[in-house]
Amino acid sequence: MSRHSNKEWLDIKKNLSFHNQAFIGGKFCNSVSSETFECINPSTGKILTKVANCSEQDVKKAVKCARAAFENGNWSDLSPTERKSRLLKLSNLIMDNIDEFSLLDSLDMGKPVEDCAAIDVPGASGILQWTAEAIDKISDEISPTEKRNLAMVKRVPLGVVGAVVPWNFPLDMAIWKCAPALATGNSVILKPAEQSPLSALKLAELSIEAGIPDGVFNVLPGYGHVTGKAIGMNYGIDCVAFTGSTEIGKKFLEYSSMSNMKQIWLECGGKSPNIIFNSCKKLEEAASMAAQGAFFNQGEVCSANSRILVQNNIAEDFIDLLMKKSDNWLPGDPLNPLSKIGCVVSEEHAKKVNKFIDKAKLDTDLIYEGKNFSHSNVNTFIAPTIFKDNDGNKEISQDEVFGPVASIIPFDTQEEAISIANNTNYGLAASVWSDDLSEAHFVADKVHAGTISVNSMDALSPMTPFGGFKESGFGKDLSLHSFDKYTGLKTVWVKY
Ligand code: NAD
Repeated sequence: MSRHSNKEWLDIKKNLSFHNQAFIGGKFCNSVSSETFECINPSTGKILTKVANCSEQDVKKAVKCARAAFENGNWSDLSPTERKSRLLKLSNLIMDNIDEFSLLDSLDMGKPVEDCAAIDVPGASGILQWTAEAIDKISDEISPTEKRNLAMVKRVPLGVVGAVVPWNFPLDMAIWKCAPALATGNSVILKPAEQSPLSALKLAELSIEAGIPDGVFNVLPGYGHVTGKAIGMNYGIDCVAFTGSTEIGKKFLEYSSMSNMKQIWLECGGKSPNIIFNSCKKLEEAASMAAQGAFFNQGEVCSANSRILVQNNIAEDFIDLLMKKSDNWLPGDPLNPLSKIGCVVSEEHAKKVNKFIDKAKLDTDLIYEGKNFSHSNVNTFIAPTIFKDNDGNKEISQDEVFGPVASIIPFDTQEEAISIANNTNYGLAASVWSDDLSEAHFVADKVHAGTISVNSMDALSPMTPFGGFKESGFGKDLSLHSFDKYTGLKTVWVKY
């Protein structure tokens, strides 16, 4: 059921206001240069607001505030239980503002507002809640040394954490980084993507109400090559947690090596396989989930199952089903509750996706192109598109398109399926559809990916780690393992 009708969303939108300044040291402020950049609604092409464009000077200012806040102990020295209670308050405040957050992310990056209200905002609030709840339930270690020795291994916060995040799930990606970084006692400087800064700035407003002390949580909107780079190169930042493309993830490794060897944690791209074996009894469900796995969120999902491997003797039936299911994923106005997908994030990104499609049409069989939605003045709506690539080596099956595009790749044997699935630079996620238990386990063991969903799609929860292998990066978001990224081990050895 929809949260609101189209008219209700439009009414709520009329009264929506935007924070458009940076948030440093507990206060909203202009960028040092007073420069701004335009925040554009990709579904209309209209300017939503002009947002502070932060530079290296703003990063230096924020690092100074974040470091001072870390050293004064107003947050880092609080008991885990007290940090928990303030983060739980923030989690509740997110849900109290669900309509506003939903609209901010939908207007900023084009996804259906109802998806924000049903998935993104409750997801962000839930992960913050789970992380906050966990922080006062874990203990440090005492090592088994000889008598009259006490060797304590403590987990301590790193200090100042930079979080650089993408635009595809703006609020969620911010929370995935900031929740464990804050829970463990660090100060945080969050840089949202330039395409989607508005929900991060709303979060800043609520952080004051939740009782996060000044300087502990800072938000710097700005361009990647300026603000993002300045965060990567800053000597006062102890760790950067990055989600984004593999190309930029590699840059953060360079920034670290050129500056202070800060720790870098990378959640990068993917080209995830979805393998359908002929032992799968629920072929219709597999087809339905395959369409969702490829087209949900306009295909702008790091773990999108964009390579669909199907065993040859069921390929014809499966492809027929998949095409029917794909008709359920046609684009529409993001503020219309009936729309299953909206538009892609920008005209620039639409050009990139369409270039992939046009090139693939020259060398790969186009087997499905859904009906597109036309909207005045913009070219950001892209219909679901499926190619058939017989060996999986074509560009469309190898590069991350980050749009509603999938390749069908047929295979004969289990061995062949594993080899095609692993034939990629990425290793973020995979799905396996099989009713043969040993086949499902064997293939799950052999496919190199951080999460393998068996007879399901994109299995995810706050309780399980998320992150990849190979060029999908390293370091896990979510679960207790996420705390490892934002803490270091300190040994305190007492002889008595
Ligand atoms: P992107 O790499 O272009 O940008 C991500 C962030 O990095 C943004 O904040 C951007 O401003 C910043 N940035 C850009 N250029 C920079 C530079 N030169 N120096 C420093 N910072 C810079 O990615 P995107 O287009 O925003 O997002 C799409 C990508 O994110 C896809 O590759 C997708 O797979 C990936 N992603 C991964 C996950 C995951 O958990 N693995 C989740 C979501 C998205």
